[in-house]
Amino acid sequence: MTRGGSRVGNPAGPLYKENAMSEPTYPVYRILARWIEDMKPNYNAAPWQTEGVPAGKIRNSTSHTIMFREEPTMDGVFEDAERWWAQFQPTRNGAADAIIIAIFVERETWCLGWFNHWTFDVGQTDQEALASFEVFVARKKDFNHQNPRIVNGLTVPAHVLMGAEDRWRWSGKADDDQDTPPPCRCKWCKEQGRIRINH
Ligand SMILES: [Zn+2]
Repeated sequence: MTRGGSRVGNPAGPLYKENAMSEPTYPVYRILARWIEDMKPNYNAAPWQTEGVPAGKIRNSTSHTIMFREEPTMDGVFEDAERWWAQFQPTRNGAADAIIIAIFVERETWCLGWFNHWTFDVGQTDQEALASFEVFVARKKDFNHQNPRIVNGLTVPAHVLMGAEDRWRWSGKADDDQDTPPPCRCKWCKEQGRIRINH
């Protein structure tokens, strides 16, 4: 496994500063991983996946964000990323030769998960958590609007919200996995010391 890292992130905007004065914010890092794996039969590989790669293999990649309660050292960030890779790697087809890159993104109040956002449980009420998330979503939508990003001729949001834009999608989970009104206070969230909003 090869590591790389950077603390260069998105510059903070005025709404971020306004928010940072009234609510706790936490350091958010993006973890990017790229590796070589066995190609599945009849897989339609993109050129970047096969260039310079042995026959029968492809290059693949993914990324996710992680938020820390305290400012971590770069070693601390990679320890977290390597724990994630140890769990993720066996789910891929013979994945090996990973390059993992960690980039400091910003200090924020909420962190993006897979169709959810979460923050640390510091004793907020449900109403306080929802109000905080509303401000966060409005801030990100505003940032995306003011900073259009064009990739391959398509407009892509600078901050992916994965459906959080729509208030009606927000939900939580009961311990029996039934949907509940947001925010999520399930057993798993409590164990992690987190509050989650699924969307
Ligand atoms: Zn939960």
